[in-house]
Amino acid sequence: VSDEAEFSDVVVETPLDGVDARIRRFRCAPEVDSFAIRTERWLVLVDTHSTPALARQLVGLVAGDLTGGRRLLVVDTHADYDHAWGNQVFGGPLAGQPAPILGHPRCVERLLGAEGAAALARMRRAQPGRFDEVELRPPDIAVGDGAAIHGGDLTLRLVATPGHTEDHLSIHIPELATVLAGDAAELPFPHVESAAGLVAARASLERLVALEPAVVLPCHGGTTGPSLLTRNIAWLDAVVADPALPLADALAIAGVPLEGLQPMYRGFHADACAAARALHDG
Ligand SMILES: [Zn+2]
Repeated sequence: VSDEAEFSDVVVETPLDGVDARIRRFRCAPEVDSFAIRTERWLVLVDTHSTPALARQLVGLVAGDLTGGRRLLVVDTHADYDHAWGNQVFGGPLAGQPAPILGHPRCVERLLGAEGAAALARMRRAQPGRFDEVELRPPDIAVGDGAAIHGGDLTLRLVATPGHTEDHLSIHIPELATVLAGDAAELPFPHVESAAGLVAARASLERLVALEPAVVLPCHGGTTGPSLLTRNIAWLDAVVADPALPLADALAIAGVPLEGLQPMYRGFHADACAAARALHDG
């Protein structure tokens, strides 16, 4: 999401209609949604929000599901601040709720060293005060495509879905025909910032479509239907066909009205058009 917007400092549960009750959704409005998946053996948190204060709220909201020996596990879909900057609550000397964090090898790199420090400095300038407490904490366990969490009743299969970022993982739960798409899919559309990113994002969306999910849960957009994937693909195809595609046409493909649109999505569309032009320029 954009650097400039104002965000709530509260995480609340946002009920999911028509979705298995073992999956719960939590929202820091209008910034991002995280999810908790309750399996027999593991309670899996998908993403940790933007700050440790928000992550601690998330822990409080799911504490009742940590019963009967069920253990906590965290998956970072990717290293962007709104998904992984609450990590320190779960790992390292600052952990208030110790739990292993899983993420892609590139996610580990992005949260370490100069790359992570640069991102933190940039966001501290953009939103002064908000990230004072943040100490970037990379995933403890690097996992790639095909890794799986065997929960007993449910299996969480990690699907490498680069495009939005190189380190992006989605989660497929075959028993529930459900995909947690992270930012690989988004309503009205995901963010890509290069020609290579656009091509990769489209391939990742195709891969998620091939899983034939009945439920698709993105981290932005609050929707649950599988048509999100095909609409995102149609938008990318339209942008490639016409890198001057008007925003109104893009929103029509997404099925989203202009009224009430978060301003950052104008930038998302412009960035995709620029990526499409770069693709044509070869
Ligand atoms: Zn995001």
